[in-house]
Amino acid sequence: MLVVMHKEATADDVAHVVRAIESRGYSARPIQGGERMAIGILNNRGPVDPNWVLGLPGVKEAIPVTRPYKLVSREFHPQDTVVPVGDVRIGNGTVVVIAGPCAVESEEQALTIARHVKRAGAHLFRGGAFKPRTSPYAFQGLGEKALKILVKVREETGLPIVTEALDHTVYDLVEEAADMVQIGARNMQNFTLLRRAGHSSKPVLLKRGMAATLEEWLMAAEYILEGGNPNVILCERGIRTFTDHSRNTLDLSAVPVVRKESHLPIIVDPSHACGRRDQVIPLSRAAVAVGANGLMVEVHHRPEEALSDGAQSLTPDQFRRLCDEIRPLVHLYARGQRSEVRGQKSEVRSQKA
Ligand code: PEP
Ligand code: MN
Repeated sequence: MLVVMHKEATADDVAHVVRAIESRGYSARPIQGGERMAIGILNNRGPVDPNWVLGLPGVKEAIPVTRPYKLVSREFHPQDTVVPVGDVRIGNGTVVVIAGPCAVESEEQALTIARHVKRAGAHLFRGGAFKPRTSPYAFQGLGEKALKILVKVREETGLPIVTEALDHTVYDLVEEAADMVQIGARNMQNFTLLRRAGHSSKPVLLKRGMAATLEEWLMAAEYILEGGNPNVILCERGIRTFTDHSRNTLDLSAVPVVRKESHLPIIVDPSHACGRRDQVIPLSRAAVAVGANGLMVEVHHRPEEALSDGAQSLTPDQFRRLCDEIRPLVHLYARGQRSEVRGQKSEVRSQKA
């Protein structure tokens, strides 16, 4: 249930309602809205009777929350959440582009690709340090060495860094180096990892599990918000279906549904969805048109030599084309997203100084 306070309610009124909620064994989560405070009731096992709360001073109304996810739902938090990652804002009506190689392979490789993607218009750089690989014999990433390279990439290019924490034992290291920590598809329901991410000060990029429903995905995000970290970005990366013309099936229909259900930003990763570079640009255009807050794309300057995911990596030229092609689409389609933030141009490059 969401307890909505009157505009004139005082801090004492809010504290009183919080105490009343806690005295019944629930937890209370104050949420500052544009004009008024609301207080979310969490940890109730069944429906909460609104009558006792409606009699408390300062309370305007009590709205039942029908969804199993609470903190991530629009019912609890109607306005879009804007997540700051370094000096980039995700979810504010622009389309943010995250790009880089699947794995950091060397300093020279990471810096070369970072210079290319920055010139083309990328806002963030992503490279894997710890890689989740299907085969134990495949390249597993350079680990800590890659994190040091990523820090150098940020120093040289100014691009904020995104990289994956494969498990909770490396979370501290990854969190220290990265501006945003990725939780991969295979880990979407790794609850130890989600809880660790919940008490991190760094934003989290939560990929959708390859067989996860939207409800399961949003419940995974709920773990992170419940732990105290409000900065979660969802990433649609394709789900398993019977098709064999692509690695996975990009579920673009998830985007408008998630945007309706949740205030969290959602971005699209066409590279892992399709697994083939010829599908990446068309799917990116579609992702922008359907309302994604950003894209995450794999790029390699020598894809044929890449140690992982070469087949789906764009060349720098193709990545530049992608940025050029989506720029006018951002103008066309991001208009509806812009109401929250005035004076910000919806342009691929407009985020970076
Ligand atoms: C990745 O982003 O490098 C990755 C392995 O993706 P996913 O977790 O979506 O498979
Ligand atoms: Mn990859």
